[in-house]
Amino acid sequence: MLNYPKSNLDAIFMESQRIFSEIEKQKNRMTQALTELIRTPAIAPENGGEGELKKAEKLMQMLELVGFDKIERYDAEDERVPSKKRPNIIAYCYGQSDAERLWIVTHLDVVPPGKESLWTVTKPFEPVVREGRIYGRGSEDNGQSMVASIFAVNALKNLDVKPKRTIALAFVADEEEGSTYGIQHLIKQELFKKDDLIVVPDSGNENGSFIEIAEKSGLRFRVRTIGKQTHASRPDKGLNAHRIGMEYTLTLDKMLHEKYSLKDKYFDPQESTFEPTKKDKNVDAVNIIPGEDVIHFDCRILPNYNLEETLKDILGLAEEFEKKTEAKIKIEIERKIVAPKPTDANSKIVVMLKQAIKKGRGIESKVGGIGGGTCARFFRKIGIAAAVWSTVDETAHQPDEYAKIENLVNDAKVFAFLAIS
Ligand SMILES: [Zn+2]
Repeated sequence: MLNYPKSNLDAIFMESQRIFSEIEKQKNRMTQALTELIRTPAIAPENGGEGELKKAEKLMQMLELVGFDKIERYDAEDERVPSKKRPNIIAYCYGQSDAERLWIVTHLDVVPPGKESLWTVTKPFEPVVREGRIYGRGSEDNGQSMVASIFAVNALKNLDVKPKRTIALAFVADEEEGSTYGIQHLIKQELFKKDDLIVVPDSGNENGSFIEIAEKSGLRFRVRTIGKQTHASRPDKGLNAHRIGMEYTLTLDKMLHEKYSLKDKYFDPQESTFEPTKKDKNVDAVNIIPGEDVIHFDCRILPNYNLEETLKDILGLAEEFEKKTEAKIKIEIERKIVAPKPTDANSKIVVMLKQAIKKGRGIESKVGGIGGGTCARFFRKIGIAAAVWSTVDETAHQPDEYAKIENLVNDAKVFAFLAIS
């Protein structure tokens, strides 16, 4: 715990109760704000989307109503989207001190909805509220935290409370596809200082008791198998790339799981994960034997392992298969992220967050690591402590994604407590 004089703590406690009840009063507006945001898709060009501009414009209108002290835009240029812009917004609420800022970083973009028929409650971008949950793509990831952070500041503004330190809410683009046009673009503007306090509410658990301070390394690659296309009735005249691709993939899958089987209690799940995920379309008709076949892998690897070593194994097996089958197997790296050094469990932001969770949600929290990559890793990379926390049922990236209204409200209380403590 931080060492406050007792009278000071009493004052913070009294103030927090006032703020908490103000946040409670805003519950319907918060619900409305989140449903409004879900209505505007913000999908990356990699996934066939137009980017985040429309959603950012809607968000700007919401921010204007709150009365932030300053709102800035740091758009990154991107030729692939119609507007040529990937928007990044920062909204400031000035505090008594500007020495160490409290940053709450959330992302505007969402992943594609996937097969729409799997959505049973509503269509992905037509949000509905049912039994205390808001359903829709982007509700949990990352709309809930966006809205919670805005309404934490909104409560302070409504009550004329000046936070202890300046709060800066950053709403960034491109989180789901590598953050080049998002948080990495902001970091290049040198907006963040060593002593700043960074919260990235983009992962968490069901009751809000988990603070993430470490992440696994990430590796994405394509397995491109090249054989020879031919008629399905004459396989003897060609080389079926699809079959060889599948065989290689399954062998690789088994090899990786067996060799990289270490478990680390710090992480959830405890082991490295290696998953064949996306399958590119190959031929147009059933009676054609594919001459080319592409399967994608998504791997989350414990920081104990050297990624280069893993890659060597992947390439080695491809070479073996090439010799055996006469097909060409190309391994094409899509993304390689080496996990940075974890945030210190005793860093100021982690200690403050623990206290805020206790006051805002009434529970003790624990620290640990996860397999997902968030914006936090880019701060860790440049030596700034960042803590990842939110309260979620972990429905992100799934059909029927939802956010609980209760979590929306209670997470806002934690953010507000951070601002005044
Ligand atoms: Zn997210």
